[in-house]
Amino acid sequence: MGIQITSGYTPFTTETVVQFLEYHKLLDRTAPVHVKEIGDGNLNYVFHVQHKKTGQSWIVKQALPYAKVVGESWPLTLDRSRIESEALKQAHALVPDFSPIVYLHDSEKAATVMEDLSTYTILRKGLIEGRIYPELARNVGTYLAHTLFFTSDYGLGSANKKELAKRFSNPDLCGITESLVFSDPFYNAESNAFTEELRADVESLWEDDDFLTEVASLKHSFLTKGEALIHGDLHTGSLFVTESSTKIIDPEFAFYGPAGFDIGAFIANIALSILSQEAHRSEEEKEGYLAYLFGVTTEVWNVFESTFRSLWADHLSEDNRYSRGYLDALLQSIFVDSIGFSGCKIIRRTIGLAHVEEIETITDPKVKLAVEKKALTLGKKLILDRKNITSIEQYIKAIKEVI
Ligand code: ADP
Ligand code: MG
Repeated sequence: MGIQITSGYTPFTTETVVQFLEYHKLLDRTAPVHVKEIGDGNLNYVFHVQHKKTGQSWIVKQALPYAKVVGESWPLTLDRSRIESEALKQAHALVPDFSPIVYLHDSEKAATVMEDLSTYTILRKGLIEGRIYPELARNVGTYLAHTLFFTSDYGLGSANKKELAKRFSNPDLCGITESLVFSDPFYNAESNAFTEELRADVESLWEDDDFLTEVASLKHSFLTKGEALIHGDLHTGSLFVTESSTKIIDPEFAFYGPAGFDIGAFIANIALSILSQEAHRSEEEKEGYLAYLFGVTTEVWNVFESTFRSLWADHLSEDNRYSRGYLDALLQSIFVDSIGFSGCKIIRRTIGLAHVEEIETITDPKVKLAVEKKALTLGKKLILDRKNITSIEQYIKAIKEVI
């Protein structure tokens, strides 16, 4: 029997995904395998395929031509699969320890075969369980500094950067972020989802013109500030962790955007975890775990900043000449953007379409409502005061003021 894989795009089944691996000579035709679809299937399929005898395994991630959003289908280009595979390869070339290996990408099938990380835990799940990852902040800070510096004008040179940027034009996925992070949560959009008890708080945001002006300015930065090749969706569900290792997955939203967007996404999701501790930890456990989460926030910024400074000192692209004070000004502007984007992310996870598991699973509605109110207060404060929050200590203080 020959290989039956048909040409053109069709979503894989547990049978055709094996034929696909055979076709690409990763698997022998007669090999007994175990196959399972392990993704949530909203945007993409994720198949786990394992050779029964050798134990060798692969992850095949395939893009679906639509996203299931609010019960409807939202058409999405399959090209995002190429973008994701190229972003993974780019990250792997810069920081191999923090990124899965890509074995191959097939653009016709919109599928990427990559390293199986099944022994890792999704960070969000680990944080819900109250686990401590001692290397996490150092690893994420290092990943951010290397990926953001070496894809920027500073690390790559302006001509090379423009060349690289051509491959990462990602209008469909950027459109999702524009709507779900920067537009919908800030007016009475159909996609929003929040409990009726929160309506008064939400409406007061929608009526605050000074606040909405700051949101608009952050949205415009997201649209126009092509500083670096960013991951574009660096929440705690896009990190795979063990005690000692960290891998960043799922960069299908990658594009040339503001450096502060990835940092903001990460610290916002840690802040949401901080706000939810109330519901998940006993009084005795809470203090220690909060200290850990605040420590992650401080360390991720400090490692990012010090690594970025040393990369600047050693690897500034030759065609670049900057004044002595410029690096400080640049880092300050990345910091302020990070704080503002963190605020937008916190708000969108509270009133927008997609919420976070650590808050959604709070069973007592009163506790949940209190956490959500705190999230809105914090998000608003971060967006409005971001230019006055000039250090990571002040960001931590802003969180402590609401919890
Ligand atoms: P989506 O874009 O659909 O969110 P993700 O890349 O986040 O896709 O993957 C969805 C899930 O599939 C992850 O939460 C994880 O459980 C699993 N997964 C994805 N990539 C891998 C991998 N390399 N190794 C093991 N499991 C993976
Ligand atoms: Mg994901």
